[in-house]
Amino acid sequence: PEDGLFLVRESVRHPGDYVLCVSFGKEVIHYRVLHRDNTLSIDSEQYFCNLIDMIEHYTEQQGALCTKLVKPKAKSGMKSAEEELAKAGWLLNLQHLTLGERIGQGEFGDVLQGEYMGQKVAVKNVKCDVTAQAFLAETAAMTKVRHKNLVRLLGVILHNGLYIVMEFMSKGNLVNFLRTRGRALVPLPQLLQFSLDVAQGMDYLESKKLVHRDLAARNILISEDNVAKVSDFGLARVNPRGADTTLLPVKWTAPEALKHNKFSSKSDVWSYGILLWEVFSFGRAPYPKLSLKEVTEQLEQGYRMETPEGCPPTVYALMRSCWEMEPGKRPSFKKLTEKLQKELKHLKDV
Ligand code: ADP
Ligand code: MG
Repeated sequence: PEDGLFLVRESVRHPGDYVLCVSFGKEVIHYRVLHRDNTLSIDSEQYFCNLIDMIEHYTEQQGALCTKLVKPKAKSGMKSAEEELAKAGWLLNLQHLTLGERIGQGEFGDVLQGEYMGQKVAVKNVKCDVTAQAFLAETAAMTKVRHKNLVRLLGVILHNGLYIVMEFMSKGNLVNFLRTRGRALVPLPQLLQFSLDVAQGMDYLESKKLVHRDLAARNILISEDNVAKVSDFGLARVNPRGADTTLLPVKWTAPEALKHNKFSSKSDVWSYGILLWEVFSFGRAPYPKLSLKEVTEQLEQGYRMETPEGCPPTVYALMRSCWEMEPGKRPSFKKLTEKLQKELKHLKDV
């Protein structure tokens, strides 16, 4: 095996701990991964929030290791994520893909417009190999969900790292949609319909026991026929931001998730409340005048955002129920769906 081929396994002697195994010369060298206060380290000098961060670091710098990490070893006995995806028909053919202009910039790389066998698509390119591998493992979750309010994954291509090919959402993300059109061009029923779309997508995710972790209007995309769909689900767990609480989207994240890393469908519901606020204020940034630190402090003292101008009281009441300090007191996405449907019907009747 080549130098720098590596894998991470569970320790035999210390179950629950990880061991990093690296090929070097004709040997395999084993490094115990030390655990302290939710951080990981090999040498008790450099600490990382999660394995991906750690691995990524050591692909760039040798540090205390015998060599830089080069390539993860495919699991033997078990099929690699790649083979698994190929078998299930999720590996697309690079020859059929034409790439066009850049339509967005993601955290892990650019988003390009493209065409795949005659269909308009959006392509997210994850360039870093290690991140790409982690994403690949996670796309498994994405291949199992299908709903009219979730941005559909069409497949992946292993090229330049990883291409994630999705359905093309021509009207871009919900924040820009609302900001550029504003009150004059987007009527109230449309705001309610977007909110309902998102709640239905999230209800489906909840039923599949999937937690989003990054629900926000910027992660909602709008199709040509004005359907709102949730994107970036299933990928949040790979998110190198992961346990690094300094990089969490503080203004969207539930207090128990911020403080104790307790993410659940109920913490998604909190974020959904913020999203409702964003929608009914036409894409304003939440807690306009507060710093991140102030938000956390004031929430604990019971402060909550005021109702956006022109927002129906019933909708504001929904936001407030999403912002219950105790997760169990927040409504489910099913309940939210029902209430929004009622509200929309009411609005159309009058
Ligand atoms: P990240 O979550 O990594 O920051 P996003 O997935 O949110 O990246 O993508 C960044 C931007 O690219 C979005 O805000 C949107 O404008 C555009 N975009 C992403 N996916 C699509 C898509 N399927 N169709 C159209 N535009 C997209
Ligand atoms: Mg995003």
